[in-house]
Amino acid sequence: MDNILEIKNINVGFKIEDNFYYALNNINLSFKKGKIHAIAGESGCGKSVLINTILKLLPKNGKIRGGEIVFQNKNLLTLSDKEIQNIRGAKISLIPQDPFMSLNPLYTIENQLLEVKNDIEIIKKSLEEVKIKNIENVLKSYPHELSGGMKQRIIIAMSLISGAELILADEPTTALDVSTSNSILDLLVNLKNKGKTIILITHDLSIVSNYCDTTTIMYLGNIIEQNESKLLFKNPLHPYTKALLSALPTKKGKKLENIKGQISPITETISGCKFHPRCNFTMDTCKNIKPELKKHDNGYCACFLCNQ
Ligand code: SF4
Repeated sequence: MDNILEIKNINVGFKIEDNFYYALNNINLSFKKGKIHAIAGESGCGKSVLINTILKLLPKNGKIRGGEIVFQNKNLLTLSDKEIQNIRGAKISLIPQDPFMSLNPLYTIENQLLEVKNDIEIIKKSLEEVKIKNIENVLKSYPHELSGGMKQRIIIAMSLISGAELILADEPTTALDVSTSNSILDLLVNLKNKGKTIILITHDLSIVSNYCDTTTIMYLGNIIEQNESKLLFKNPLHPYTKALLSALPTKKGKKLENIKGQISPITETISGCKFHPRCNFTMDTCKNIKPELKKHDNGYCACFLCNQ
């Protein structure tokens, strides 16, 4: 089977006071092995909830209702806590937005990497692969003594050391400057070239076209467009995707467009198309009926305009 991970009909919500609000609605996604898959959208569109759902790391008030998450022929949702713990880190690893949160401030980098695999030669080789110089010094350091970029390299090295086949990268470059960010993204491409599969969560579409094979655009817990990244950038279909792309700076110095309004909180009920309060093309139908994600000649899109 070509797919390392399949998400089937997943709905996720949160109990807030006495009500239950959905943050992910009927999500279906397949991830091919050995590719970088972007999941993009503004903050609040459900990207990080999706990552936490895959890892079964939702907060107590979060519930997965129905569906399956199939990783290497196992439905992760039916596994016990112990079984899922054995998969986290060893087979599916996480590169978080803030690497400091994943490193223990009380232990040296060497002690923490030895916890992952008790083999110093493999550790040193992995650190070389993520382009860390002065390996001996870095191994003796505590996390607070290292820069953000260096800590992120250590986390990526952990994925190599553990041998994880699926890597979930949750906005891994948000806290970094542009040049460090590009070098971290280059490392993700190296991981892909070694056969790893990467799901890259990002709000920054400018990095997606250069680094990702496929792109899924989410809005308020729904998938609204999906395609190979090159095709999506060349010919975006959904008004939200077009608006996100118009908000990107270009070399030609084109005036940047803002998307009107703001993404609503999940506690707000929006009928029909969730994007209709912000869309420049809203029709009466859009306010009452939710458009389905459908296949078109140029990709998948959930908008009545794509359906014409
Ligand atoms: Fe805009 Fe209507 Fe398409 Fe939604 S369905 S994106 S409101 S045109």
